[in-house]
Amino acid sequence: MRFHESKTSARRFHTNKKTKRWTEECFDEIDWEHLELALKNKPEGYKVWRSKQNSGFCGTRVQVGRYGGEFQPDEKCPNCGQREIAEHLMLCPNQDRTRLLKEQTENLEEWLYQDEKTEPELAYWIPKYIRMRGTTKFAAMGEMSATMRLIAESQDKIGWRRFTEGCISKEFNRRQTFFLQMTSNRLNGKDWTKQLISRLLQITHSQWIYRNISLHDRSNGYLRNKTAEDLAEEIHRLAELQPEEVPAESTFLLEVDAGKLTKEHIETQAYWVVAVRAARKAKAEQSAKAAGDKRRMKRKSSGRLSSRANLGVTEVEREIIRDRINNISGGESTIRLEEHNQTFLDAFVKKRPHPSSITRLMKSNKRLRKPD
Ligand SMILES: [Zn+2]
Repeated sequence: MRFHESKTSARRFHTNKKTKRWTEECFDEIDWEHLELALKNKPEGYKVWRSKQNSGFCGTRVQVGRYGGEFQPDEKCPNCGQREIAEHLMLCPNQDRTRLLKEQTENLEEWLYQDEKTEPELAYWIPKYIRMRGTTKFAAMGEMSATMRLIAESQDKIGWRRFTEGCISKEFNRRQTFFLQMTSNRLNGKDWTKQLISRLLQITHSQWIYRNISLHDRSNGYLRNKTAEDLAEEIHRLAELQPEEVPAESTFLLEVDAGKLTKEHIETQAYWVVAVRAARKAKAEQSAKAAGDKRRMKRKSSGRLSSRANLGVTEVEREIIRDRINNISGGESTIRLEEHNQTFLDAFVKKRPHPSSITRLMKSNKRLRKPD
């Protein structure tokens, strides 16, 4: 009953908004039921963060400037300097944030493949879709089965950004429920879908934590004296305060799941601890880079990468091509390989070295080489 009520009010809100209205079609594709289940036991602050991010009313610098009524507010992203609107959160081209996104998506991938619990095509395409950063439609990413294409097209009606904010197509659960019924896995479709949504939200929330930590570091050197353990203590302390007593720059810490902040959990690397540590590490590296000329040159050259490369999109595209080569046998693959340069081959060898495929590719490369 409650679920239906909230779905109705969400529909009224999203489809009647004056700007950026959601179409009825998009709304009906979304798996609201599992989103609600995924959010059920999350802290209140976390739910508020998600709904603000999802509706575009997040505390980004553009929005904060707007409520604050400041004249010419500083609207720049603390990590890359671009204008910071809500959708920038998952599109920041900062190299360290791209790395954090990649690592956390790899964790999701590991979970998807663990115990062969996920239908293989879903396990393959979901992480790729996240890392493509909305530059390509799901259904246009590569060759897929007709069933997979149907799921992809349904998600395309909803869009990439909403996917990262927990709005996934109902088709994921349908496909996965069927798959799990056919296997001996004890997990059911409902739990799988709920966990998938939770994990997608954690990836997005990690970017938010990282961004906040960097922002507060600029004004007060936040990172100089705080470890993830110190922050855990601070979260406990803040949770005891009245909401109005919490300093504005620390409110984001209340979005973190305080129920899980035992010492043991910190050691097992809760997702937000990973984000905090990544921000600290990036800061330390920056300081070290500033010290040496040689390193400064390196940073300069990485700044010249195209925005697609900075976002990690080119890397995913190469992975998709590489995987397609591995699946194709015979002559066609050798011709395709020749189209790519040595950098591609290097990336391929570094990534997932599968001895037989490397040998095959090396051989084919040699065979196609023009005589001297
Ligand atoms: Zn940015």
